[in-house]
Amino acid sequence: IVKLEDVHLSFGNTQVLKGIDLTVNKGDAVSIIGPSGSGKSTLLRCINALAMPQSGRITVAGTRVDTLTKESERIELRKRVGIVFQQYNLFPHLTVLDNIVLAPTRILGADRTATEKLARELLEKVRLSEKADAYPGQLSGGQQQRVAIARALAMKPELVLFDEVTSALDPETVGEVLWVIRDLIRDGMTSILVTHEMRFAEEISDTVVFTENGRVVAHGSPKEIFHDSDNSRIRQFVGGLS
Ligand code: ATP
Ligand code: MG
Repeated sequence: IVKLEDVHLSFGNTQVLKGIDLTVNKGDAVSIIGPSGSGKSTLLRCINALAMPQSGRITVAGTRVDTLTKESERIELRKRVGIVFQQYNLFPHLTVLDNIVLAPTRILGADRTATEKLARELLEKVRLSEKADAYPGQLSGGQQQRVAIARALAMKPELVLFDEVTSALDPETVGEVLWVIRDLIRDGMTSILVTHEMRFAEEISDTVVFTENGRVVAHGSPKEIFHDSDNSRIRQFVGGLS
């Protein structure tokens, strides 16, 4: 469902992606790990056309993304590819339910009543049914992030990208967000996650990709990356796990 071939991207003179190849099959969960600045966020952003490469091919759910020149075409793509960031950016003046209902009704033109029903189902899925009428400011970071996940799912995306969605959270709320993502993956949602949660990545991933300095240095099963790698950089990075 996602294929990157020899993707190069620079910001000015800084080469950030130096020939990325990546394939993600429908229903797979792929984790991207690697040091800070290695290009993980940029790679994710390329998949939903928030960043455009200078060369290479990117295909997402049947659409050539690297050739989308019009913003309207990129917006069309983003309707089908959910993304959840470290900063959840909920609308503070809208209730939890309205935060979830907004995009499907405004952007997709979905029916309000049907979308509210969907939003309540999604709130149940992220274990926040009782918070439908609360405002974001009344929720913990972990709860807000779960609302952000529900909001992404309300668009019925074909895949979801997660960029370090637990990095800004208090340690005690990280687990509840990871449980929700784990449930989604078990339900078969195609997911690409940038994460520093190594144990989580090990548990839920079909494939783990290790990036460094704009390149995919290794990819393989969690066992291959976390336990059997003979690359000293990877062993050092995942340290302690094996
Ligand atoms: P982290 O783990 O810290 O989130 P990352 O692997 O996600 O890092 P990126 O955010 O993709 O790394 O950034 C890779 C490099 O690209 C960094 O050197 C960063 O400074 C640079 N960079 C990212 N976005 C931009 C931008 N919009 N303009 C200029 N440089 C950028
Ligand atoms: Mg990043």
